[in-house]
Amino acid sequence: MDNTVRIFDTTLRDGEQAPGYSMNIEEKLRMARQLEALGVDIIEAGFAIASPGDFESVRRIAREVKTPVVASLCRALVKDIDAAWDAVKDAARPRIHTFLATSDLHLECKLKMSRDAALARAVDAVRYARGKCADVEFSLEDASRTDRDYMCRVVEAVIAAGATTVNLPDTVGYATPKEISDMVANVMNRVPNIDRAVISMHCHDDLGLAVANTLAGLAAGARQAECCVCGIGERAGNAALEEIVMGLTTRRDLYGLASNIRTEEIAPTAQLLEKITGVKIAPSKSIVGANAFAHESGIHQHGVMSNAKTYEIMTPESVGVRDTAIVLGKHSGQHAFAERLNELGIKVGPAAEAQLFAAFKALADRKKTVEDRDIVALVENETGRTAGAHDWTLKNYFVSSGKKMYSTACVTLVKDGKEMTETAYGTGPVFSSIRAVEKIVKHSFLLLDYQIQAVTERRDALGEVRVKISDDTGVYRGRGVSTDIIEGSILSTLNAVNKMLDDSHAAALGQGAAAVVQHTFEDDLLTGHTDR
Ligand code: MN
Repeated sequence: MDNTVRIFDTTLRDGEQAPGYSMNIEEKLRMARQLEALGVDIIEAGFAIASPGDFESVRRIAREVKTPVVASLCRALVKDIDAAWDAVKDAARPRIHTFLATSDLHLECKLKMSRDAALARAVDAVRYARGKCADVEFSLEDASRTDRDYMCRVVEAVIAAGATTVNLPDTVGYATPKEISDMVANVMNRVPNIDRAVISMHCHDDLGLAVANTLAGLAAGARQAECCVCGIGERAGNAALEEIVMGLTTRRDLYGLASNIRTEEIAPTAQLLEKITGVKIAPSKSIVGANAFAHESGIHQHGVMSNAKTYEIMTPESVGVRDTAIVLGKHSGQHAFAERLNELGIKVGPAAEAQLFAAFKALADRKKTVEDRDIVALVENETGRTAGAHDWTLKNYFVSSGKKMYSTACVTLVKDGKEMTETAYGTGPVFSSIRAVEKIVKHSFLLLDYQIQAVTERRDALGEVRVKISDDTGVYRGRGVSTDIIEGSILSTLNAVNKMLDDSHAAALGQGAAAVVQHTFEDDLLTGHTDR
């Protein structure tokens, strides 16, 4: 029997359906390119008929990636299958993935169909899909709660109709590993034409058993695993790709199975997902969490130092996790800094390097250890927008804040060599300092969104502030990092304000110098506005 497990990634379909994980087309393409670099065998790129946006992203991914099979999901309906085929047909290796529920519960309550009618519909759908595409997968939705004899009849019939992969999902995350193992063995032993198709697992994590169930299915003879990066997906998510792959790799002795995944691309893939979606990976997450390879206890540290195998079952390098311990400090020179940039794959010219080094030195004065994540944040900060000659820059600020009092801010900005200082008050230090900026630049704007996040752990961490502001020329995003969150807030606001002023200046010139209406700040406070 073939000992290679096909990794079917559904991050862009099942994963993207989860709240908070939606991605635009460009983001999906970026993710798809990384999945190709990771070495996944199949990318489920979306559900083509769900919306025009879904259709377009499946089509773009199908045209973009070369090595993996590109699949679109579709119900067992002619119009769904047509849409799926239209979306994937330009792929080097297209697949149509169609599905129909087979459990009595779904048949009676959802589809209102008899078992025989559902079997006929499944066969028709597979046959129709095979008329278009040589690679057809059929899923028996809610397989784990489907009658075992009926399951064998459906599997045999869809294989006879041309299905090349048959998926037996635990759609609602209800089954246990023993049940999955028995379910797969039953099909492997009883379906006469089973050697003509690959059996697939698709397990959900409602009871925290998705990976255990997937591995049980593979051990029983399944050879495709459907999974998502970081285990994202509907409800509690799908089986995590990195856990299945490292389970197979680390316990090769037990499973005797391999995959085509380049494991050292695992951590970069998880980090890209985090960066695109903005959803943080839990520190304790297996394989890719920040603590997955951290040894805090003295006993463990001693053991790992004498022989890593005492407490490490796999190396951080094998999954692409770099050593994030102390990398640089205040005594590091520009040479060491430049080397680190190089290792991080950051390419900058000499002028930008000098500017970054100055920012690094300023940070090292305030923060004991500077990690890779800090450097990446600095680079994004310094190179996000090349400071224009006529930009406002921050010279100084002072804020006071306390219980039962207004917060006051005094901010000094510089533009074209000229300094301007303003004071403002508000309900908090962020409010008052942003208002002082607004008074200096003499241009009012709305604060639509404000987010702050620590770049690394511990108290001296950099704070990364992201703001979204708007005026009648549009919406502008700004980003600023500092060990002081008020400084980060002012920097992110200036980052956005400078872009806004460029545009409003251009608009004013275009309209023959329309007057910029000066806002009366004190009115706001009286009428109870909390932001502008
Ligand atoms: Mn699912």
